[in-house]
Amino acid sequence: MNLIFLGPPGAGKGTQACLLSEALHVPQISTGVILRNAVRAGTPMGVRAKSFMDSGSLVPDEVVVGIVEERLQAADCSSGFILDGFPRTVAQADSLDSMLARLGKQIEHVLSLTVEDDELLTRISGRRMCENCGKGYHVIYDPPKVSGICDLCGSALYQRDDDRVETMRKRLNEYYQKTAPLINYYSEKMILRPISGIGAIEDIQSRIEKVLEGSIRDNS
Ligand code: AMP
Repeated sequence: MNLIFLGPPGAGKGTQACLLSEALHVPQISTGVILRNAVRAGTPMGVRAKSFMDSGSLVPDEVVVGIVEERLQAADCSSGFILDGFPRTVAQADSLDSMLARLGKQIEHVLSLTVEDDELLTRISGRRMCENCGKGYHVIYDPPKVSGICDLCGSALYQRDDDRVETMRKRLNEYYQKTAPLINYYSEKMILRPISGIGAIEDIQSRIEKVLEGSIRDNS
């Protein structure tokens, strides 16, 4: 099954994409994670992307389209994939359509997580991430067992620079201007599945599973 998670920063796309990836046995493809790894590794792409990311702006379309195009051709995408954080502009969505047509694939559902701005700001400011394995936490909603330490690998947790309040406002602006038009884009294609992103992680997970019910049974 080929899926997209759509939603503003902090809506829970990464968390839910990770859970669903385990349930469906298909890879989660997060452009944010791939870009952060490139920044950390100091690759030419990472160097180019860094200033955009630090300021809360979107990275240019051609950079992310190139990343996804290469990733979708990997063998582990043959029985499906979950895109998390891509596409984020109409131009990216158009490019995705063309690359999927070339690969003989199509998106079946766009899971659109809805959360209000005040809640997004609260969530994001408490968000922490493992510097080694990338697992996400929240200081109030989803704390690690030992403060500041990853439950999975024991490495230190950090706050992403772009999760600070000022940058967060810019990211929300970018979302409303450039990404929100994708709600209509996919609604017109009849593949948009709006899901409330409010509540406990497990409750949101159940809502998603309900939407995908038949498809999950077929894929497992
Ligand atoms: P995320 O982890 O998905 O919130 O992404 C973090 C940052 O990476 C974003 O604020 C953008 O600067 C950049 N980024 C991730 N995905 C994309 C995308 N599809 N298009 C443009 N920029 C992206």
